[in-house]
Amino acid sequence: MRILVIGAGIIGAALADRLARRVDGGPPGSRDAVTVVEERRPGAGTSGTSYAWFNANDPEDPAYHRFRTDALRTWRDVAAGFGGPSWYRAVGNIAWAVDEDAKAELAARVDALTRLGYAAHVIGGDRLRALEPAVRVPRGALVAHYPDEGFVHGGLAAEALARRAQESGARVVTGRRAVRLNVDGGRVTGARLDDGRDLDADLTICAAGRDAPALLATAGIVLPLADPSVPGSPAPCLVATTTPVPGVLTGLVHGPELSMRPAENGGLVLEAVDIDAGIDDAVPADRIEAAGTELLARAGALVPGLSTDITDVRRCVRPLPTDGYPLVGPQLPGLYTAVAHSGITLGPYLAELIDQEVHGRPAAALGPYRPGRHV
Ligand SMILES: Cc1cc2nc3c(=O)[nH]c(=O)nc-3n(C[C@H](O)[C@H](O)[C@H](O)COP(=O)(O)OP(=O)(O)OC[C@H]3O[C@@H](n4cnc5c(N)ncnc54)[C@H](O)[C@@H]3O)c2cc1C
Repeated sequence: MRILVIGAGIIGAALADRLARRVDGGPPGSRDAVTVVEERRPGAGTSGTSYAWFNANDPEDPAYHRFRTDALRTWRDVAAGFGGPSWYRAVGNIAWAVDEDAKAELAARVDALTRLGYAAHVIGGDRLRALEPAVRVPRGALVAHYPDEGFVHGGLAAEALARRAQESGARVVTGRRAVRLNVDGGRVTGARLDDGRDLDADLTICAAGRDAPALLATAGIVLPLADPSVPGSPAPCLVATTTPVPGVLTGLVHGPELSMRPAENGGLVLEAVDIDAGIDDAVPADRIEAAGTELLARAGALVPGLSTDITDVRRCVRPLPTDGYPLVGPQLPGLYTAVAHSGITLGPYLAELIDQEVHGRPAAALGPYRPGRHV
């Protein structure tokens, strides 16, 4: 089968890797011809700027929690297959709450997750100091530890997956944009590139992340992602990175006013929910810069003596389905879509399930996440 994957973020790259290696175990000689088209380079989209925390930390929807814990297992397998790469960091996550309502909420979360069989513990000061010696948590805080969580350096991970796909026989076309899906008699037959070439395929898989709606619209399909240009949209957000501060953090740290984790350059990645809420397409550059300064000040309050600067503050857009759940499945004959927020957590697992599906074995786990559920 000729398969065309559009987009080499974490989802497209994991998928191309999986398909090219024929992990699904098809008979010899049944290898698919896999082509990936990427407008820039693998990992250059949202995956490369993501906070990239892999987790199943929300117990609210037990079925989705299970889906995500399966995804964490797949990540462990993928990382093992790369021999424990430096871009996969299963280093745990610490979160704390200070005010009484938030403490009650955190305790209830730990309790619910524990009942679901997930590794979640309330920890005391000694354990916290052993895990993150540089971090000072306010006195009286309730602290939770999730040892099986971690993060990936999303750009490096997508790059490594795309490289392995290529080594396994996939054709990876970079620097080219798919400008439209080609449709013939109601069937998608491939895509037209921005140099005028048509790439023909028996199956086209749209893994274009936040740009998926524009591409799918060329075949008359509406993909329900939050529109970042609408005032108050939850899709735009902001991530800052600092200069290197080796050894300051081991894992992810989530306080009420700041999320942080080690960055690819040895610095810190900083994000805050309340700052994200004020970001939209119209926010001027000076306010973005001020947000970076504020994030740095918050980091300094958690890590006494922290000496670092902001290297980069980026406005990003989450590929956020309007109901928050993934959008994965066939849409027209010859067309399959794979778009998700939490794409970092889910990417390799979605690749595994999609590999099954395109080879004739429907994946029941994807049942709740079909694009058609909104119709
Ligand atoms: C600030 C932030 C924090 C986040 N935090 C987390 C988190 O903690 N945990 C988590 O799991 N998820 C998180 N996410 C979400 C996660 O990063 C995304 O869901 C994931 O990276 C999406 O991967 P993707 O492969 O679908 O998209 P992308 O990485 O954007 O890849 C799509 C690729 O398609 C290419 N492309 C687009 N259109 C075309 C076209 N027409 N032709 C050719 N190529 C095209 C792009 O160049 C891009 O490289 C976060 C996102 C953001 C922005």
